[in-house]
Amino acid sequence: FLSIEMSMQTLSVVGRLRNCGLLKTRGLIGGKWTDAYDGRTIQVNNPADGEVIATVPCMGEMETKDAISAAYDAFTHWSKLTAADRSSRLRNWYNLLIAHKQEIGQLLTLEQGKPLREAIAEVAYAARFIELFAEEAKRVYGDIIPSPLPNRRLFVLKEPVGVVGAITPWNFPIAMIARKVGPALACGCTVVIKPSELTPLTALAAAELALQSGIPPGVLNVVMGDPPSIGDSLLESTQVRKITFTGSTGVGKKLMAGASETVKKVSLELGGNAPCIIFDDADLELAVKGSLSTKFNNTGQQCVCTNRILVQEGIYDRFINAYSNAVQNLKVGNGLSEGVTQGPLINEAAVMKVDSLVQDAISKGAKVIMGGKRHSLGFSFYEPTIIGDVRNEMPIAREEVFGPVAPIIRFKTEEEAIQIANDTNSGLAAYAFTNCIQRSWRVSEALEYGMVGVNEGSISTEVAPFGGYKQSGLGREGSKYGLDDYLEIKYVCMGNM
Ligand code: NAD
Repeated sequence: FLSIEMSMQTLSVVGRLRNCGLLKTRGLIGGKWTDAYDGRTIQVNNPADGEVIATVPCMGEMETKDAISAAYDAFTHWSKLTAADRSSRLRNWYNLLIAHKQEIGQLLTLEQGKPLREAIAEVAYAARFIELFAEEAKRVYGDIIPSPLPNRRLFVLKEPVGVVGAITPWNFPIAMIARKVGPALACGCTVVIKPSELTPLTALAAAELALQSGIPPGVLNVVMGDPPSIGDSLLESTQVRKITFTGSTGVGKKLMAGASETVKKVSLELGGNAPCIIFDDADLELAVKGSLSTKFNNTGQQCVCTNRILVQEGIYDRFINAYSNAVQNLKVGNGLSEGVTQGPLINEAAVMKVDSLVQDAISKGAKVIMGGKRHSLGFSFYEPTIIGDVRNEMPIAREEVFGPVAPIIRFKTEEEAIQIANDTNSGLAAYAFTNCIQRSWRVSEALEYGMVGVNEGSISTEVAPFGGYKQSGLGREGSKYGLDDYLEIKYVCMGNM
C-alpha cells in the first residue's frame, strides 16, 4: 500500500509505526483484521501534500452485519466480567496509549494534518478518557428505594444497554472514539466503531492497543468505507441498542430519524457556532490569548471553535491591533515540521467552503483585516484570516466556518452581545472575557450554550460534561454524566418479603 513517491518524512513515520505494529490497514471484526469482502479499498491522504499514505478497506453492509454479530456475541462475556476486571483492562489500554502517544500522534498528524504538538496532546487527552472511565467502571451501581409497603423491597439496577454503534469525525480522530468507547466499555457494552474514512489509521492503531490490553475480541470492532451503508446497517439492526454520533448536524438529524424505526437510544455531539465575547473591561492579554487558541487550534476545525468574535466598541481598536499581531505570529505548514502552529485544512472541499464564506462576507461589506485567501503553500492550506465589520446575519456568522477565519462583530451593550450570541440554532460552546465578576455570572447564565468559558478559551477536559443545547446535540459525554447514556435503568420490586 505504500506509494513509491512517499516522502522521506512520511516513510520514516510509517516505518516507525510499522515496527511497533501500530500501522493497521484493515478493519477489525471479532478480533480479526479483515479486508472488505469484495476487495474494495479507499485511499487515505495526507492533507498537507496530497500524498497517499495508505489504503484501507471500503466496507459496507455485510461487514457491518458481521461486526454487529461479533459485538453481540462478545456482550454476554464482557458484560458479565466484574467491574474491577473491566476497569483493569481499560487501565492497561490507557497505559499503552500513553506509552505510544508519540507514534500515534505522528500518525494522526500524517492523516489529519494538525501540528504534532496538538496531535500528541490529543492522544494524551484520549487516553485520559480511558483512565477516567477505568475508574468510573467501579462506580456503576443502582439504588434501594424505601418502600411504602412493609412487605416489599424496591431496587434500581443499572445495566449496560448492549451493542453500541459509534460514528466519529475526522477532526479529533482518537479523542472522539475514546470519549465514547471509554464509558461504553466501562458499563459493559460492546461497540462497533465507524471512524471517518479520512482518518481511519489512528482509530485502527487505538484498536490494536485495545486488543493488546486484554479487551477481548469482539468487544471493540472497527468498520470503515461507505458511510450511508454502514450507518443504515447499524440503524436497522435490532441488536444495536444505541447509536452515539459526533459529526455534522445534518448527518446527526438523519441518524436520529433513522434510529426511530428500532427505537434506539441516540446521543449526538453536533456542530457549534461559538461566540467569543470580548467586553470593554476584559484583560486584553488574556482575551487575545484565549480567543486565539479557541479560534486557531486544529486550524479552526473544532466543534467548540470560536465562530464569531464579538468585540465591545470601547476595546475594539486595541483588541484588533493585539489580535492581529498574535495571528501574524502563527506559523503555517506541515504539522510534522518543527514550530508549525497551523496545519492544513482536511481537504480541498473544506478549503472551498471556507473560501466561499470569506468571499461572500467580503461581497456583503465585511473587510479583510488579514489573510482572506488560500495560502501560497498550496494543497489544503489557508491563510490565518481576520475579517472585520461582520454582521450576524451574514452566512459567515451563521454557518460553522470550520477554518482559520476569525469574523469580528462589533457591539455596544451587554444585552446586545447576549442577543447576538444566542441568535443561532447552535448551542455548544461560548466564551466571554471580562474582569467583572457580576457580569461573568450574568453572562454565563444568559448564554444558551452547553459549555461556557469565562476568561478561558481551552475548556475541554475529560472530567467535565461535554455537549450542547439546541441543535448542537443530545446527551453529554465525558465525566460521570458520560456514563448515563450507556446504561438502562431496571426497577425490581420484590414482594412477599
Ligand atoms: P460528518 O457528519 O461529515 O461525518 C461524521 C461521521 O459520520 C464520519 O464518520 C462520516 O463518515 C459519517 N457519516 C457521514 N454520512 C453518514 C451517513 N449517512 N450515515 C452514517 N454515517 C455517516 O462530520 P465531519 O465533517 O467528519 O466532522 C465535522 C463535524 O463534526 C463538524 O460539524 C463539527 O462541529 C462536528 N463535531 C462535533 C463535536 C462535538 O462534540 N459536538 C466534536 C467534533 C466534531
